[in-house]
Amino acid sequence: MEFQETIFTLGNGYLGSRGILEEGYKEGYAGTYIAGVYDRDKGQSFELVNVPNPLGVEIYVNGKKLSMDDMEIAEHHRVLDMKRAVLLRRSVFTDAGRRYEYESTRFFSLADMHTGVMTFSFRSLDSDAHIVVRDTIDGTTRNEVQAVGSPIKHYSVTHTSDCGNGMSYLEAKTNDLGLVIGLASGYDVVTDVGVRSCADGESVVREFSLNTRKGKRYKFNQYISIYTSRDIEHDIKAACLNEVEAARKYGIPRLLKRHTRAWNRRWQYSDISIEGDSPTQKALRFGIYHLLIAAPPSDIDVSIAAKALSGEWYKGHVFWDTEIYMLPFFIYTQPRVAREFLIYRYRRLKQARDGAQAQGYKGVLWPWESASSGKDETPQTWINFDGSVIPVYNPKREHHIASDVVYGVFLYYQVTGDEDFMLRYGAEMILETARFWASRVIYDERLERYEIRKVIGPNEFQECVNNNSYINVLARWTLRYASELYHRLAKKHPRKLRTTARKIGLKDREVDAWKEIAEKIVLFIRPDGLIEEFEGYFARKDVTINEWDENGMPIYPSEVKLTEAKETQLVKQADVLLLLHLFLDEFSIGVKRINFDYYEKRTTHKSSLSIPSHAILANELGKTERAYKYFIRAANADLANIHGNTELGIHAAALGGAWQIAINGFAGARVKDNVLSITPAFPEHWQSMRFRMWFKDTLIEFSISKDEMEAFTVKGRKGVNVELYGRKYLLYQGQGVSARKTSYIGD
Ligand code: BGC
Repeated sequence: MEFQETIFTLGNGYLGSRGILEEGYKEGYAGTYIAGVYDRDKGQSFELVNVPNPLGVEIYVNGKKLSMDDMEIAEHHRVLDMKRAVLLRRSVFTDAGRRYEYESTRFFSLADMHTGVMTFSFRSLDSDAHIVVRDTIDGTTRNEVQAVGSPIKHYSVTHTSDCGNGMSYLEAKTNDLGLVIGLASGYDVVTDVGVRSCADGESVVREFSLNTRKGKRYKFNQYISIYTSRDIEHDIKAACLNEVEAARKYGIPRLLKRHTRAWNRRWQYSDISIEGDSPTQKALRFGIYHLLIAAPPSDIDVSIAAKALSGEWYKGHVFWDTEIYMLPFFIYTQPRVAREFLIYRYRRLKQARDGAQAQGYKGVLWPWESASSGKDETPQTWINFDGSVIPVYNPKREHHIASDVVYGVFLYYQVTGDEDFMLRYGAEMILETARFWASRVIYDERLERYEIRKVIGPNEFQECVNNNSYINVLARWTLRYASELYHRLAKKHPRKLRTTARKIGLKDREVDAWKEIAEKIVLFIRPDGLIEEFEGYFARKDVTINEWDENGMPIYPSEVKLTEAKETQLVKQADVLLLLHLFLDEFSIGVKRINFDYYEKRTTHKSSLSIPSHAILANELGKTERAYKYFIRAANADLANIHGNTELGIHAAALGGAWQIAINGFAGARVKDNVLSITPAFPEHWQSMRFRMWFKDTLIEFSISKDEMEAFTVKGRKGVNVELYGRKYLLYQGQGVSARKTSYIGD
């Protein structure tokens, strides 16, 4: 059931609200999270606060609650309308042979981000009934889900009141930062009943009773408003009450219309339509839905956490998952949002600089786990695979995060061409990261090479290795990219470059050194092209995966305990293969093949992040059916609870990865040298794919069938270069081209 609470999460980027049953039940877990609201208290680090729950509704018939703990359930349906982000429910409870119907609908408006709406109704189907309705803004919620340590209540309720006029209000303050959170709720009682409110210190409860007639439906509309001191400085209460009042005047049909319109706009840019595979179509849309509900509607200085706003696991922290796995979706479909996620990092540049310095390096080192302050929020301990508590070394060693963020900047710039962003933010981020690597490498005089020692690669089984290839290539690439950028800006924007260089104290000779370092960073590659994951990896005990489950996924070799995997060549998650995926043009197909064949047999996919690069590479190697199996796995990560822990929150990286498999894999979308190329190769049973994407301020719609495709510009003024099946076209606004796999038809 808790798994359904996760998948039925609603949200509008400002907040996420788990798909709870309003009345609660034994295992129910009410989770309401406001983007950017973090608190630490006695925890190891700041975590996303589970704020008061405004959705509690209990209905009692003759003293007995309509709930699955107290009555029988005759019918129960819930529908998540992903097109509009509305959750609908119908349940029929039975007690002593009598049936009671309960229905509800709720949404958090995308058009009015502080407003939520819930309607619920009651109908006694077999007899007249006296009911008591209690609704609550529950101020007793805690962050129960802790890997290590006990639950924490991150706020105290400072104020509760019945404001009259059908409205009630609760105000809470977070423990450390004193962030104020206000929640108001107001009825628009269609049926004429008197509402009595009471505040019990931690919650506001409204209660009323009425005699209901057999067969008649009694409907209640509730408006909810949430503001925090992150949004406005003063008078949060007035803001909440005014918002509820305004919503009430506006009415549900119109609020829903505005909300639906806003969602239509989001889907217009984001949808992927697949003909010939409706289960996968649904799963893909489900993933897109979850990414969209975590996308802020305006600039609220946040990024997306590993579980987005759907749960507390990983403490609501932002990892490299965002830039490497989720960002591509936003870059191509909502570039404004992608830009904000990168600016979120930029705004925390100072802390990243301090982070590098604290470890004895120069430049910037983004935190392995980030929350609001920009400081590293990685907890010092975590639970190991066998349940034991272990120390966490990632902030000190998993330094690829430095360049994962830069990779996000690079891709964003490549696809959007947003020079303003590059000049204001991107350049400083890139140059400072190059500086980090220049200070992080160690020169081996004897071997005349630069090394990067004591690191953790994406494959986290080994926690202290030297010269991880993913990291070394990323460092090399960053140093080259930064020095190219520096020279380009020196020519094109000398004044802007001077300002940035002066700000960070960067001189030409420092940049000259970067190129030299980059050329001498060591990589361990065998003559046949097989890349050694890290120095000495091939000398580890070679264990391969020899059994595969019915979905084509590896079965972990039983002869190796998970805690001993580090002694072997088993890989937790894509590492070398991720490298090949990110730098696909730098490696030949032969290199990709030999590495794919080698590492696929050794990768256990103990992280959901592992699948996307496997799928994309498999497809490139012509193993489309294999790619498809991986795709199903990523797209269904949560819908089918594949990892068995969806109750803790969605696997946002896997869902972002599923989008990448569809678009970068099956549709073969790539950007290189200012050209967007599409080279599709999709599963046999797919008839067609249709999607839109932004490329350099131009919105292009692609319709791809088996052997031909059409591309036309929906928005945009400038001409853009596209390459369809390997042929180049210049597309202007309102123009379209059709291309066939072998020949060109014309526009
Ligand atoms: C993975 C990391 C990932 C984190 C959060 C871990 O299990 O190994 O790569 O960043 O989960 O999703």
